[in-house]
Amino acid sequence: MKITFLGTGSSAGTPVMTCQCRVCRSKDPRNQRLRASILVEEGDVRLLVDTGPDLRQQILRAGVLSISAVLFTHFHADHINGIDDLRAFNFAQKEIIPCFADARTAQELVERFCYCFLPPDAVWAKPSLSIMEISGGLGFGPMRVTPITLLHGNLPIFGYRFNNVAYLTDLKTIPDESLALLEDLDLLVIDCLRYEEHPTHLNVEEALLWARRIGARRTYLTHMTHDVDYAELAALLPPQVLPAHDGLVLSA
Ligand SMILES: [Zn+2]
Ligand SMILES: [Zn+2]
Ligand SMILES: [Zn+2]
Repeated sequence: MKITFLGTGSSAGTPVMTCQCRVCRSKDPRNQRLRASILVEEGDVRLLVDTGPDLRQQILRAGVLSISAVLFTHFHADHINGIDDLRAFNFAQKEIIPCFADARTAQELVERFCYCFLPPDAVWAKPSLSIMEISGGLGFGPMRVTPITLLHGNLPIFGYRFNNVAYLTDLKTIPDESLALLEDLDLLVIDCLRYEEHPTHLNVEEALLWARRIGARRTYLTHMTHDVDYAELAALLPPQVLPAHDGLVLSA
C-alpha cells in the first residue's frame, strides 16, 4: 500500500494568509502545508480522503490521473470545500465517482453541494458524485477500509483504517470501542494541531499519548498549524514518531 500526504496543514494552511511569523516566512518546504488530505493506493484502487480547498493543486502536484472513490472524514470546510474539482475525474473517467461518509457528513454534502449529486450531463462537465452513508467496513479490491469513530470535540467524525494503516485527523478523543479497532498497526497518522491545547484537536503532548497507547510501529503527525516548525518538532519527538509533510510518500 502506498500513502501520499497531499496536505498536512490545519484549516488555514501554512503559511497563513497575512501572517508574517517565522514559520510562515520559513524557507523549509516542510513548513508549507496545504489542507489535510491523503491518497491511499493499492493495486488499481486509489482512494482519496477528503476534498479540501487545495484539492486541484494537490492532485496536480501528486500527478494523480484517476481515483476509485472518495472517503470523507467530516464536513468542516477544510475537508470538503474543494469538492467541485472532482469534476476533472468525472470528465477523464466518464463515470460517477462514489463517495462515502457518515450520515451527518453525507447530509451536509448534499445540502451544501446539491448540484454535485444530480445525474451526470452528456459530456461529464459537472461533478457527478454518488454518496453512501456508511457505519461499518468496506472492501475495495485488496483493501479493507474500516471507519473509526473519533470525537472532534463533541462532534463524532470518521477516521479510517486501511488494512494496517490508520488515518485519524481532527480529533480530541478516541472512544474505547474505536481504540479496539486500532490494534496491530504498521502506520498511524494522527492529528497534532500545535503545542498549545485546543478544545477539538490534539496538541503535541496529547498526540504522543495516543500514539503510545495505540502503539503503531510508526506514527506520523498531521493537521499542523503555523505554530509548528517541522525541524523543531521533529527534534522533540521519540524515534518512532515523525511530523508528516506535504508530498511525503510512505509504503506499508
Ligand atoms: Zn480540519
Ligand atoms: Zn504564521
Ligand atoms: Zn474539523
